[in-house]
Amino acid sequence: MKITLATGNKNKLKEIREIWPEAEVAGVNSEAEETGSTFRENAEIKAMDVWNRTGGLVMADDSGLCIDALDGAPGIYSSRFMGEDTSYDIKNAALIKKLDDMGLEGRARAAHFTCAICAILPDGTKIFAEEYMPGEIAKEIRGTNGFGYDPILYLPQMKKNSAELSPEEKNAISHRGKALRLMRENLRTIL
Ligand code: IMP
Repeated sequence: MKITLATGNKNKLKEIREIWPEAEVAGVNSEAEETGSTFRENAEIKAMDVWNRTGGLVMADDSGLCIDALDGAPGIYSSRFMGEDTSYDIKNAALIKKLDDMGLEGRARAAHFTCAICAILPDGTKIFAEEYMPGEIAKEIRGTNGFGYDPILYLPQMKKNSAELSPEEKNAISHRGKALRLMRENLRTIL
């Protein structure tokens, strides 16, 4: 299956190729402004922008970190939080400090990654899948795998932060892994 993925994010492309090795995935950056108010809307905007240029089967992933105690922030603003060019060492340290300053411990630090995927079929039909990876904001930055906020999402069942997981371990339980496998099943049924 040939899929155009509407992203310029090399980490997302790498994970999607690992999760769905039999698909031929090419990345094309979406230039559309992410004006949606949900992950699903932004995934649709990015997928439409690229589909209008390339046609074929196009998929877009919109994802982010949602922290309960911050009313879901940074959420859809995850990559824009504190500025696109600010390093994740700084963003991650700032989020840990924010929760520490609020005096939150354990489940009060609940957070999750969300991944919404929109696929647009060659005939223009749109299909959606959305999944989550629940955890807590860690007390300290740990791990060097993954990307973005992986070093600060603590997974109680693994007793590790997401960035301490191997790629295989992360893909087995991640928001992106679950959403993509759901999408793959949907596409297999339809196509
Ligand atoms: P998007 O490209 O607008 O969807 O922004 C996604 C942003 O959410 C990324 O740049 C990361 O900051 C964050 N994010 C999404 N998925 C992950 C993940 O699997 N691990 C860590 N951070 C993630």
